[in-house]
Amino acid sequence: MSELLKSYAKVAGEDAVVKLQQLAAPMKGAKFVHVNSTRVGGGVAEILMKMVPLMNELGIDTSWEVITGEDKFYQCTKGMHNGLQGDAVNISEDLLKAYEETNAKNAETLRPILEDADYVIIHDPQPAPLLSLCPKRKGKWVWRCHIDASKPHPPVWNYLSQYVKDYDASFFSLADYAQQLPHTQYLIPPSIDPLSEKNMDLDQSEIESVYAEFSLDAERPIMLQVSRYDRFKDPIGVIKAYKFVKESVPEIQLVLAGGGATDDPEGEEVLREVKEAAGDDKDIHILLLPPDAHKTINALQRVSDIILQKSLKEGFGLTVTEAMWKGKPIIGGNTGGIRLQIVNHHTGFLVDTPEGAALRIIELLQNPEKMREMGINAKEYVRENFLNTRHLREILSLFTILDDQSKT
Ligand code: UDP
Repeated sequence: MSELLKSYAKVAGEDAVVKLQQLAAPMKGAKFVHVNSTRVGGGVAEILMKMVPLMNELGIDTSWEVITGEDKFYQCTKGMHNGLQGDAVNISEDLLKAYEETNAKNAETLRPILEDADYVIIHDPQPAPLLSLCPKRKGKWVWRCHIDASKPHPPVWNYLSQYVKDYDASFFSLADYAQQLPHTQYLIPPSIDPLSEKNMDLDQSEIESVYAEFSLDAERPIMLQVSRYDRFKDPIGVIKAYKFVKESVPEIQLVLAGGGATDDPEGEEVLREVKEAAGDDKDIHILLLPPDAHKTINALQRVSDIILQKSLKEGFGLTVTEAMWKGKPIIGGNTGGIRLQIVNHHTGFLVDTPEGAALRIIELLQNPEKMREMGINAKEYVRENFLNTRHLREILSLFTILDDQSKT
């Protein structure tokens, strides 16, 4: 076992790594390609950053390709994202044309790699048309939807499904997200990498460095939400919850830590709204972090007493997993993938309103023993369910099934 695999074995158990080696053995030397639309920002990039090296370590020749486009393309795909999450968006013909043309343009460069690949995962709607643009593909192609698509706006799904239906399979984070499709759909929740800078253990000095860096008072409680500035993450709801908490716990501090994703054009507008809602409250710290601020986020999660993910819609919510891995109780919006992770009252609390969030925060701040217990439960829950060794095992199993099916 290589040093890297040994490190995974230490955290996830040797058994988990041995299973991965067994599944990867028949795929040794096979060409595996992941395609998404951003290398930084957001959960998909976060997963691929560590999963691709792990797959290569297991002997699968894995690459990560990123499609790029102009403004109209990202406006269109953000519209699709919001539409899949249920917003009644109206995406103009002009934007759809930009979407199709951008995919056609990217296909010109990607076609040789994709047609030659043995296994392809296309992540989310942005690159979904690529399959239709690679007529000589020889491998198995799977569409991975990371979005809460439980109640998509019908015109958006109808448009997208014309591309998705031709894939060999698709997979979603939750059963609720499955759609009417003519192929098998699998359920594979995402994961975090316990060895990444975002999640690894840090020295006490590294952890404490964020107090000075962001003018936080180490003696007073901190509540934190880490998220892109996106309305579905409900940063305004977090500020409302903070204001309720402040009435009973005046010493509370709030940190909203976020950055942009290159494929998310709405971030600046939402950030403006958030700053306006925060006003001149010196205890609200709105941070705009660079895309590589992994250790900073890791440290912020560790200095926080309570972590929120007050999303109104959430495909999965890696920030929830990350917080749980730091042994923190988490208060999450009662939606989508957050429900899969927070076992209510055991690993955290599910809430529907800012007031509900505030009540739970106050309850926990007044009960440090409960906070500690929930944090321990949360970390173990992640170890059992949401590490990338489990995630990759399920992905490799999926492709093994597809390979077996085509042999019979
Ligand atoms: N993230 C980050 N910097 C930020 C905001 C978020 O590195 O400023 C990371 C966060 O730690 C998590 C991922 O981006 O790993 C967000 O994934 P999640 O599934 O929570 O939400 P998404 O952005 O994909 O909707």
